[in-house]
Amino acid sequence: MKEHEGFWVFIEQIEGKISEVGLELLSKARELADQKGTYTAAILLGDFSKEDAKKLTHYGADKVFLFSDERLNRYCCLAYSRLITPLVEREKPEALFMGATPLGADLAPRVAAQLETGLSAHCVDLRLGEDGILEQIVPGFGGTMMAVIICPEKRPQMATVMPGVFKKSESHKKGEVIEEEVTLSGEDFIPEAVEYRTKKQKTVPLEGANVVVCGGYGMENEENWKLLEELASVLGGAVGATRPAVDEGWAPEEVMIGQSGKIVRPKLYIGAGISGVMHHVVGIQDSDIIVVINKDPGAQFFEVCDFGVVGDAEKILPALIEKLKERFSS
Ligand SMILES: Cc1cc2nc3c(=O)[nH]c(=O)nc-3n(C[C@H](O)[C@H](O)[C@H](O)COP(=O)(O)OP(=O)(O)OC[C@H]3O[C@@H](n4cnc5c(N)ncnc54)[C@H](O)[C@@H]3O)c2cc1C
Repeated sequence: MKEHEGFWVFIEQIEGKISEVGLELLSKARELADQKGTYTAAILLGDFSKEDAKKLTHYGADKVFLFSDERLNRYCCLAYSRLITPLVEREKPEALFMGATPLGADLAPRVAAQLETGLSAHCVDLRLGEDGILEQIVPGFGGTMMAVIICPEKRPQMATVMPGVFKKSESHKKGEVIEEEVTLSGEDFIPEAVEYRTKKQKTVPLEGANVVVCGGYGMENEENWKLLEELASVLGGAVGATRPAVDEGWAPEEVMIGQSGKIVRPKLYIGAGISGVMHHVVGIQDSDIIVVINKDPGAQFFEVCDFGVVGDAEKILPALIEKLKERFSS
């Protein structure tokens, strides 16, 4: 019987545009495969040519399984899973990774259930243990520690990872494209996606911002939240939020930072009224400089910061804004 082997990645695309997260995961899969002495593969669905698919080999794919069909340009969970699951059953990879995106959050559990395997969602790292088994790292126990998840028996091991967790890198490996037959009928395309709409952003986008000013539950109310927006505007930066701040309706979901939000790597991160549990810290820990403002001197966030200010954000932020305005106007 065929052994389970190879690190596989589902390549997400939106209306024919390949998302970065798939390339980031492919680069990670390449690293793991090289460590283990095995191969990598990418699964691509959509209106793509063999030449388009070949480009994925530049990001480390030894094999690209291509289902080329115009109808697959728009995501449809039924159609996608009816192609991916039998392919995975036939080829028996050791692991299959997808983006922890809205698409991945819909597709991955469906495929995992069909394959009767486990799925670790929102991983913040993937690595090989001493025994060569894939370890999937997820913040656990309220974000106070990192949990290592392994799947000792079932294969493939499946994991989803947020965009931005891994860096994409080109590896210049030579790979092959394998064209797969698309055997789908109209009834496989249920529900039908009719249109994609992109939300317009009101502020500087978090992705790629040099400065991120982030607020947590300790900002206490919407009025205080405006201080963060003012500080971000003085510094030409973006505003981010923790989950409780989003839940309170002070900030939109798309600016949530952390394990289930975005991953940022600004030159300067300022976090105010945030306790600093792992669920949030994993999203900011690669920032060049981390400044934390918290009224509790024992707050966990002080352990990871470069500069800490113990005090009330409601008092410190206006003073900081005033000083910066003076500085920039002189
Ligand atoms: C599976 C899972 C995934 C999650 N994913 C995420 C995620 O992606 N991102 C995320 O953020 N959370 C996430 N969470 C939630 C996470 O566990 C924490 O609950 C959350 O990060 C805490 O947010 P906070 O620091 O704003 O609030 P709190 O933990 O309530 O902290 C508020 C802090 O503000 C301080 N404070 C209070 N008043 C003031 C003041 N006036 N001035 C200064 N400081 C003050 C307090 O001392 C305290 O430290 C996740 C949870 C789970 C279970």
